[in-house]
Amino acid sequence: MVRLDDGHLVPVELKLSTQSVTTPYNNHVIQVAAYCLILEDYSEQPPTHGILRYADREFTIDYTPTLRKKVIRLLEEMARCNEQQAPPLQKQRVAKCRACTFQAICPIGSGK
Ligand code: SF4
Repeated sequence: MVRLDDGHLVPVELKLSTQSVTTPYNNHVIQVAAYCLILEDYSEQPPTHGILRYADREFTIDYTPTLRKKVIRLLEEMARCNEQQAPPLQKQRVAKCRACTFQAICPIGSGK
């Protein structure tokens, strides 16, 4: 995270194993937006944007009211999930599941 001269906090997310993309991945955008939402509690000036840095380029992610609403909606969906009501995710990359600490208890990732 960096603080600009005007006091705004800017989250910077590094995804240095990602390269050669022309637009930022949606899940990375949501991650940056989630950081912006968290930073609202730590500064009187809400964040205006975040930075998503890949191996060979970076993107400025504008923290718009629409993106903020989307993050809040996703958080609300996550809060409603439990063992009886799993998240709607139907598939995930095998490599991600094998590296995930929740694989043993995850109905989607277990057995991959
Ligand atoms: S094991 Fe489950 S929680 Fe972990 S990455 Fe796979 S789908 Fe996601």
